[in-house]
Amino acid sequence: MQILKLGGSVITHKDEYFSPHTENIKRLAQEISATKKPLIIVHGAGSFGHPVAKKYNISDGLKTSEQLVGFSETHQSMTRLNQIIVDTLLEAGVPAFGISASSMLVTKNRRLVDIDMSIIKGCLKLGLVPVMYGDAVLDTEQGFAILSGDQLIVRLAIDLEAERIIFGSDVDGIYTANPKLDPNAKLIELVSLSHITAEVGGATNTDVTGGMLGKLKEAEEAVEAGAEVVFLNANAENRVKTALLGEKVMGTLLTL
Ligand code: ADP
Repeated sequence: MQILKLGGSVITHKDEYFSPHTENIKRLAQEISATKKPLIIVHGAGSFGHPVAKKYNISDGLKTSEQLVGFSETHQSMTRLNQIIVDTLLEAGVPAFGISASSMLVTKNRRLVDIDMSIIKGCLKLGLVPVMYGDAVLDTEQGFAILSGDQLIVRLAIDLEAERIIFGSDVDGIYTANPKLDPNAKLIELVSLSHITAEVGGATNTDVTGGMLGKLKEAEEAVEAGAEVVFLNANAENRVKTALLGEKVMGTLLTL
């Protein structure tokens, strides 16, 4: 079983509120359809979840009752995006099945504690492709929280013994610095866990690098558990398809 992350930067126009990237979603649905492999898809929020979660400060937890509407709105915006993605996958012939994390788990201080995997296992056994997402979830300590798709993926990979995790984003992989800000940034084809911070150069631009460094840190555990972890550009045609087929693809491979 493989897990594919479709980053918010791939499936939405990040600078335009609630704007799905229809063209990318359709192309990726075709690529996924062509591979016919056991798969879980987890997508990001992009211009759907983030603006609402930020407006109501959902990630810091419940402080005033006015936030309750915002908590539900954050979840709703994500279910709308999920619906668009699942519908597009179905049109391409992929037996996709949307599942909300908020209906099957709670976090403790923003971290996942227990997940009952029986529904996801059941879906996979039937041949369905579960499509999950970073969600607004209940939290035992702070009332509610935002669970990132990246945290969810790693837990799914460990508990379900995934063979490979593919992080699809809008850059070719992990670079020595943020490639959008530094023209001298170089693609790292192989990065070992022990060298992550040094090689990715988080120090100069902590804010922006946070995105990638955060993913790398989450992914550590999955690599230790034996999963292959690949970072690639899902905006580039056929890279997701090639990786799903287990073939060599341009990107970054994370190793022990
Ligand atoms: P997504 O929405 O696809 O999950 P994010 O936007 O959170 O991903 O993170 C991807 C972004 O991280 C890239 O578009 C890139 O601008 C930025 N980034 C920062 N540092 C790096 C780095 N060292 N290598 C690659 N990308 C980086």
